[in-house]
Amino acid sequence: ELKIKSDIEIAQSTEMKRIKDIAQNLGLHEDEWEPFGHYKAKISLNTMKRLNDNPSGKVILVTAINPTPAGEGKSTVTVGLAQALNRIGKKAIVAMREPSLGPSMGIKGGAAGGGYSQVMPMEDINLHFTGDLHAITSAHNALSALIDNHIHQGNEVGFDTRRITWKRVVDLNDRALRQVIVGLGGPTQGVPREDGFDITVASEIMAILCLASDLTDLKRRISSIVIGYNSMKEPITVSDIGVQGAITLLLKDALNPNLVQTLENTPALIHGGPFANIAHGCNSVAATKMAQKLSDYVVTEAGFGADLGAEKFFDIKTRAGDIDPAATVIVATIRALKMHGGVQKDQLKDENVSALEKGLANLEHHVASIQKYGVPFVVAINRFVTDSDLEVNTLLNWCEANNIPVALTDVWAKGGEGGIDLAKTLLDEIKTKENTFKPIYELDMPIEEKIQTIATEIYGADDVEFSPKALKQLKEFDLNGWSHLPVCMAKTQYSLSDDPALLGRPSGFTIKIREFRPSIGAGFIVALTGNVMTMPGLPKKPAALNMDVSEDGTAIGLF
Ligand code: ADP
Repeated sequence: ELKIKSDIEIAQSTEMKRIKDIAQNLGLHEDEWEPFGHYKAKISLNTMKRLNDNPSGKVILVTAINPTPAGEGKSTVTVGLAQALNRIGKKAIVAMREPSLGPSMGIKGGAAGGGYSQVMPMEDINLHFTGDLHAITSAHNALSALIDNHIHQGNEVGFDTRRITWKRVVDLNDRALRQVIVGLGGPTQGVPREDGFDITVASEIMAILCLASDLTDLKRRISSIVIGYNSMKEPITVSDIGVQGAITLLLKDALNPNLVQTLENTPALIHGGPFANIAHGCNSVAATKMAQKLSDYVVTEAGFGADLGAEKFFDIKTRAGDIDPAATVIVATIRALKMHGGVQKDQLKDENVSALEKGLANLEHHVASIQKYGVPFVVAINRFVTDSDLEVNTLLNWCEANNIPVALTDVWAKGGEGGIDLAKTLLDEIKTKENTFKPIYELDMPIEEKIQTIATEIYGADDVEFSPKALKQLKEFDLNGWSHLPVCMAKTQYSLSDDPALLGRPSGFTIKIREFRPSIGAGFIVALTGNVMTMPGLPKKPAALNMDVSEDGTAIGLF
């Protein structure tokens, strides 16, 4: 039997170019970027001043149907498409999120693409990379320490210690830290109170870093983070305790986008990686805009399926960054569509055309949603070796019959070569189809109406139900002047509904809003539909069990 190489084996057997060559090819001047070893660099945001007059490249969003355990391959297609565009003579850059260490130790599957469509050096990217996440962890916890010190030193602003909303973070899956008590040990050890840890990528500072346009905007956003409430239940912000300068200072380098390359030496900006539930799940605005100034096409992705990822990209990120999306790629796999059609995970290898046809309802719904945003799109079928010809043709024929632009892609097995069809189809759609991009809701609508619009238009729900607590919060938000903010939905990624078990295209359901969390620094109101996990745990057999390092320092077993 043919041995399939693992992602890490492919990456380690590929020769990388020196990062200075990649930077030079992009036309960057020597003083505009700083090397991190030979294969990584940070590009100074000050470079944008010189690049300002360059035309802006076209932004292509890669999104997907609702994820299933069968895997969709958004990152793989994102990298593969950029490689393909370069192969047909276009200047394209990948702009992706940087992974968190926590899940890397837990579940198998990196965040740097897969097969012959990966970003390198994948070991670094999946481990400490250029230290952005460490900087965010430090900045976040510095604020925590400053809050507790403020209380210890007399609590001048009057925190109600039972209403401090700013927790602590660590970039690991560590369930034992979800709820803790700090300040134990007597009067010199601070004031005892309940606290807890989130994973770093769930920090509001991560979301802020990804939406800020420059250091000034970063500081403005940090100033307005709500860290707790006083006994009158009035919000207390970072600027109330006067530490926005210090927190911004800790992030000054982390705000600069990271430059790396793909297996085919396509430049990649890997920068920022906020959670896709309580945050917006997109790489940084800074990196996306910089990539636009350095190339003709930017291929970027958003976390989860199109109901969450594309919605937040279109309704939150494009607004924050003033970005005009040029096209969308909707990734689907035959395996996942069969799961949406009712097939169990262990039977995905067997041909099953009727399940595929049933599962198409999920794809059909996402296509309709993307059309509502008015952006040209292509469905990319991410081919797996187990897909039968009959299944592939069924899907292709269905798309053609419904006038849905589609391309079969094989970027996992063939790299850029396997994405040329997708690249050409996409360029054709961009050229021939009208782009009438518009977010799905207006900012001046009440928050209830924004959610109603997302739920009915994008999820296909009948209605939205707000808990008494949620309704009470909305009144408070009105008084605080927060009602003009966009909404960041925290919903299961597995279903269009808020019940992860309802696959395919569920109908006749209601979205239940349990409570809200204001992320005022990030600039959105998070709407929680169920319990959201902001500190994941590790599974019974964590991926860490397979990891090792050789005597010469080579990473082993990292995907
Ligand atoms: P997503 O971004 O949707 O989470 P990824 O692109 O990270 O998905 O892919 C998840 C995993 O699936 C990776 O380990 C990748 O190597 C694998 N994968 C993706 N596409 C294919 C494919 N066509 N065939 C086999 N494995 C694939």
